[in-house]
Amino acid sequence: MDKKELIEKINKIKKQKNAIILAHCYQNIEIDFVADFVGDSLGLSQLAAKTDADKIIFAGVYFMAETAKILNPAKKVYLPNISGCDMADMINLKQIKEFKAKNPDTPVVCYINSTAAVKSECDICATSSNAIEVVKSLNTDKVLFVPDKYLAKWVEKNLPDVQITAYQGYCPTHYKINADDILNKKAENKEAIVLSHPECKDEVIEISDFVGSTTQMMKYCKESKNKEFIVATEFGVVQRLQRDYPNKKIIPISNEIYCPSMKENTLEDILYTLENENNEVKVDENIAKKAVNCIDRMLKI
Ligand code: SF4
Repeated sequence: MDKKELIEKINKIKKQKNAIILAHCYQNIEIDFVADFVGDSLGLSQLAAKTDADKIIFAGVYFMAETAKILNPAKKVYLPNISGCDMADMINLKQIKEFKAKNPDTPVVCYINSTAAVKSECDICATSSNAIEVVKSLNTDKVLFVPDKYLAKWVEKNLPDVQITAYQGYCPTHYKINADDILNKKAENKEAIVLSHPECKDEVIEISDFVGSTTQMMKYCKESKNKEFIVATEFGVVQRLQRDYPNKKIIPISNEIYCPSMKENTLEDILYTLENENNEVKVDENIAKKAVNCIDRMLKI
């Protein structure tokens, strides 16, 4: 089957089954042809919370599909490939309990890039789009933040009155970006604005002109009068910016900055899942009951 036939078939079955395909911006770019919505974790969770579809096919990683399931317990959620997030997997239920026990009486914020079990032990969820607002909303001078230590540092930089104790997790994909990579690109493209994701190391954040989530970076690029951008994040974002703004020069750090788990899904996998309804994602009822409060509290902000 060629790509055109694949896309037509997916779109046809999707309608027949009243299914929706949600895709993260780090997915292989061809998935955008069949996705009903392409976005970052915040956008995807907001959409998952209000969809009328009976079935959700999540082109993303496991915690995203779990979040969609928690928000839609009566719907069926499928993940074409069971791919995890290396950052989310750096903390499990036992470790979050231990972390809380070592730092008692402190509100716990969890990055959405965490498992349902970890969310069930936290007070409120956050994404890279809203982490600063989320922490601010707690009106406290100290919080625990899991699992991303770099996002935690970014929040603390923006809210210096709040003392953040961070779990020592990180994203291995963003970790690969170094300050020297940016400086080398900047030397070749002197007018370029440097955009970076808050999962990047502090040395990258410090020399960036703008730090924001995927959606915030894309919006910045769209609205800026500048024509050149060095984009310090996953390569899928770079590809989408290059596609959407052909008159702007979008400069990647390297096409090696990609998340292997996010790249597992193909159009063939999505078709297979639509036809066979494999890899249904289930969340333990007791975990889901607790985790939903954590996510809902964020969505209300
Ligand atoms: S890019 Fe990093 S945080 Fe995002 S899914 Fe991959 S490992 Fe997880």
